[in-house]
Amino acid sequence: MKKFVLLLVVLLVCFLWFFSGGSRSSFKLDYKLAKRDLGEFVKEPHSMGSKRQSRLADFVFNRLVADKLEARIQSFDAQVPIRKDQDGYGRAGNYKRTVKGYNVLGYLKMDKPSECIQMVGSHYDTKHIPGLRYVGANDSASSSALLFQLASHFKKNLGGLGCDLLFVWFDGEESVLDDWNTAERAPYGQQDNTYGSRYFVSQMKICGKTGAGKEQLCWREQLKKPIKELILIDMVGSQELKISLDRLSSDKMLERLKASAKNLGFDKYLDNTYTFVEDDHTPFRKAGIDAIDIIDFNNLDYWHKPGDEVKNISFRSIEIAGQIAVEMIENSQQ
Ligand SMILES: [Zn+2]
Repeated sequence: MKKFVLLLVVLLVCFLWFFSGGSRSSFKLDYKLAKRDLGEFVKEPHSMGSKRQSRLADFVFNRLVADKLEARIQSFDAQVPIRKDQDGYGRAGNYKRTVKGYNVLGYLKMDKPSECIQMVGSHYDTKHIPGLRYVGANDSASSSALLFQLASHFKKNLGGLGCDLLFVWFDGEESVLDDWNTAERAPYGQQDNTYGSRYFVSQMKICGKTGAGKEQLCWREQLKKPIKELILIDMVGSQELKISLDRLSSDKMLERLKASAKNLGFDKYLDNTYTFVEDDHTPFRKAGIDAIDIIDFNNLDYWHKPGDEVKNISFRSIEIAGQIAVEMIENSQQ
């Protein structure tokens, strides 16, 4: 009889564990695949408007199609300031030129009807740095490679999620001029960063938030659903991962980040002081959409400098960032 009771208890525990979501397989990074994807991003510098970047847009798109996600390239014209080291600077009134930008989107529909969109994003352009062959293994290949695997993870583990998932690779996060805010001063007088995310948000206002029905500007029907939030990931491949607590992120998402890290035993990978980081989540916050930036803005030895190369990347750090993101997404949707 005792054995029978014990068996019942064991069965009950298994049952509860299964239905509490414990059956979900945890996220594991396929290091070999991550290395291959990362290798594609770091072959050459690829700032917005470069030939290489338009090829990479196709690479991301094809990679998503191969993984059986609905994919789309959202192209846009960006007015960027002309640098001093490029022809044309200083001629009267000639401070801007137009380049093509490409956001790449991958959509994952839940197997049951859903009324919201959970976004996961990363930028995938590199900073143009005169005189340096800057390929950005950490900034921005680490998170760009991770996003593919988050997408395929959720494709296999949809159970329990309440929102559709939209993965976005943003173009043109980096400023064209050397410093992030230079262009806001005369003679340019414009914002010179986060081109792709600002464009995306401008389209969301028409399509996603207000549902005004401008079909040609929408990404099919899906963008009529409200965006629940954005989890942005950037620069997560350093050897000593220390994720920043960014004050420009939503407070409640910061709390969820901390709780998720704690659940995983990852407190040590979070910073314990707050900072301010502007990134592709900022346009979303300005539009009233919840967003967080999972970014390590502490390890900056190679940031926009020589050495941001694959040899200095920790794939374990990328995996940890991915596990935290997965935990955050699952915690938000139960
Ligand atoms: Zn950067």
